[in-house]
Amino acid sequence: MKNRLRILFLASEVSPFAKTGGLADVTSSLPKALYDMGHDIRIIMPKYGVISERKYILREVIRLKKIPVRMGNKEHVTCAKSAFIPDSKVQVYFLDYPPYFARPDLYVDSKTGADYPDNAERFMLLCRAVLATTKLLHWQPQVIHCNDWQTAMIPWLLKHEYAQDPFFASTSTLLSVHNLAYQGSFDKSVLPKIGIRPEQTNEDLEIYGRVNFLKSGLVTADVITTVSPTYAEEIQMDMELSAGLLDILRARKNDIYGILNGIDHSVWNPEKDEFISAYNIDDMNGKLENKKALAAKARLPFDETTPIIGMVSRMVDQKGFDLVADVIDKIISLKVQLVLLGTGDEKYHKFFKKAAKTYADNIAVFLTFDEALAHLIEAGSDMFLMPSRFEPCGLNQMYSLRYGTVPIVRKTGGLADTITDFVQEPDKGNGFVFEEYNSSSMLTAIHHAVTAYQDQKNWSKIQRRGMKIDFSWTQSAENYVKVYQKLESKKRK
Ligand code: ADP
Repeated sequence: MKNRLRILFLASEVSPFAKTGGLADVTSSLPKALYDMGHDIRIIMPKYGVISERKYILREVIRLKKIPVRMGNKEHVTCAKSAFIPDSKVQVYFLDYPPYFARPDLYVDSKTGADYPDNAERFMLLCRAVLATTKLLHWQPQVIHCNDWQTAMIPWLLKHEYAQDPFFASTSTLLSVHNLAYQGSFDKSVLPKIGIRPEQTNEDLEIYGRVNFLKSGLVTADVITTVSPTYAEEIQMDMELSAGLLDILRARKNDIYGILNGIDHSVWNPEKDEFISAYNIDDMNGKLENKKALAAKARLPFDETTPIIGMVSRMVDQKGFDLVADVIDKIISLKVQLVLLGTGDEKYHKFFKKAAKTYADNIAVFLTFDEALAHLIEAGSDMFLMPSRFEPCGLNQMYSLRYGTVPIVRKTGGLADTITDFVQEPDKGNGFVFEEYNSSSMLTAIHHAVTAYQDQKNWSKIQRRGMKIDFSWTQSAENYVKVYQKLESKKRK
């Protein structure tokens, strides 16, 4: 293939191996789409304790049996094993270093609810090991595509430690930001532990007196992308959404691109979904079966005419659970049932557990991470609620559209880019949208949805409109390739 690119893709989570949120879906499906376009793409991620070597058939790689990584005054001897993303030919190298990664959780210790205290060392080791691995493989990437703070120190390392290394002389870097709220900000006392000498500290590394991995990546990467056009604009305008990095982002305005995520149709497709009764736009009977199955699973009385509102989400402030909590009684008085799947902040666990007791016939809450149930909720619900305070892209609203489950969303980030309000634009609307971040605006949108649901003919029009939209990765992957090619042509100049 002409213009075949060698792309090294780095992420701290990749589905199905390890997942805490949408990042893992993207870091699995984008490489698959790039591979299908003919590019030479390889992934490196940590080998966490949760990743089963047998299930995914991890194999030893002779050249990578020993990857020594010096960090400060310690030498860590790591190794890497390899496997393919299931049902694909995308090769993934798993960086194995049990003292740092063989733990039950990825970033936050679920026993304490706090970040692992050595996250700076863990992910700096990953970054350093990635560069060492690439050299051992004798595989020179044209582009290193980093994702989020966990891999954001790579561009910094290339600039500050590898600038003279001919191996990386023609390697460009791209940093994708999936959520600016997570930055990898650490006290400066970590510097010796992550192998940064005092004379190396400079303004590329710190902000507000702290080491900030994401910031380092934002200032040193050749190009930056984020996961929707609206979020790309918001983070350069809005003080809150820029999370303290407004000036940094504005200074790089010519190098920031917003590329909407796609969805993986091999995983999220109501016609072929292993977790549900199949259905499609021409035969929606299966959807009703799924609604019954969901009601049974949630132990809610089934009533075809009562709309079920689904939510599948990390239970954190970003996702708007405070708004839902605020008006939970009013939501239930609209004669709906709510099925909620999520894990996160204890305050929300407590609140919703109690609400499910109070409204046993109307609210069901699952405080776990359950992939199969996530699919059943998408398929069995009539509506899907995402009242996010901010949303870099959001995947569930796109899954919902595909499953004929009408989204109710706040107009922010990727939600604004994908959902059009049916009340304001009846000829185009594929969901219900509210603008102001407050519970009464959200309630109005839910009310509009419930009213529209009463007219089933109209409702099926909204559903069908959503089901027809193509959010596959093809377009998004092409947009990434355009950015990679821009980097290539810059090199030639
Ligand atoms: P974010 O990345 O901010 O968490 P997204 O909407 O982009 O939000 O993606 C969330 C992804 O994680 C979706 O695939 C969603 O189904 C999944 N998810 C979130 N919480 C759970 C859970 N408790 N169980 C199963 N899947 C979940």
